[in-house]
Amino acid sequence: MIECKGVTKRYGAVEAIRNISFTAPRGQIVGLLGQNGAGKTTTLNILTGYMPPTEGQVLVNGMDMLTQARACKRAIGYLPEKPPLYDEMTVRSYLKFVCELKEVSRKEIPAHLEEILSTCGLTDVSERLIGHLSKGYRQRVGVAQALCGDPPVLVLDEPTVGLDPRQVVEIRGLIQRLGAGHTVIFSSHLLSEIQQLCQRVIILHRGKLIREADMAELTEPSDVLVLRAAIKGRQQELLPAILSLPCVRRVTPLKQAEAGVTEVRIECTRNTSPDAQTALFRLLCAMEAPIMQLISEHDSLEDVFLQATAAE
Ligand code: ATP
Repeated sequence: MIECKGVTKRYGAVEAIRNISFTAPRGQIVGLLGQNGAGKTTTLNILTGYMPPTEGQVLVNGMDMLTQARACKRAIGYLPEKPPLYDEMTVRSYLKFVCELKEVSRKEIPAHLEEILSTCGLTDVSERLIGHLSKGYRQRVGVAQALCGDPPVLVLDEPTVGLDPRQVVEIRGLIQRLGAGHTVIFSSHLLSEIQQLCQRVIILHRGKLIREADMAELTEPSDVLVLRAAIKGRQQELLPAILSLPCVRRVTPLKQAEAGVTEVRIECTRNTSPDAQTALFRLLCAMEAPIMQLISEHDSLEDVFLQATAAE
């Protein structure tokens, strides 16, 4: 578990982050979401002890990052924005070197190395020079060096940035697998990536933490159910009829997709009896107006992010 308590960082006159507090519980993937310059890298650099905060405290499994720095850093594997790779070394020799730096016992290094190479899909390129690898493989080596010493907490700064779509899928798969046995904190400015991988999300905006919540809680449905429907029939007849249903709060016509078909957005009260879809179906059957399409809209992380940042 890693806790960030009231952390502020000032670079001279620039206040990069202000009074940030959050907890990354054991065994969860936590996403740090924010636009460019929101303060993600600064937060991660402080969490990993790479630089000290101006104010506040970081605790790793209850240990203070300032006073018990060595023990804290041993518990964290860090993939910084620019991974510290040596191009002239082979993958294997580099990872062996990192294991030695992290004081893995010499006896354990060979088995530990094989496990990391296999986890990160690097076994086949283990004897190649890092400088000759593609960006996706270099990123895997970056993740692999974070795994050396088997730390329980992994901190990854924008791990998929600059990768091609296939490499992005591979690295996301790797993060998902690592999430099963580690606490993982990773930053991204991609909402879809955070939504896909994380159980918990922290939203930073202009150096402030504006939202922290479980992903399920953040995107859980409100008491309003929003339906989108395409119905065969005339708008002038359909709109007032739909609005007359007790469960319907508002009906908004959308652009017409094809002649004779009305597309509408319907805001309904959730959990009514009968439910909104059934009531709509019965009404339209009686009107002999076939439903061509009916879907319910879900709040996406994008909506939550836009609402939170707009409120700021
Ligand atoms: P990005 O996604 O672009 O990397 P970020 O969310 O990681 O952005 P940070 O790099 O933490 O954001 O930067 C937060 C703010 O602090 C920005 O306004 C940035 O210009 C400023 N900043 C970062 N490092 C320094 C520094 N060494 N000196 C002065 N200002 C800095």
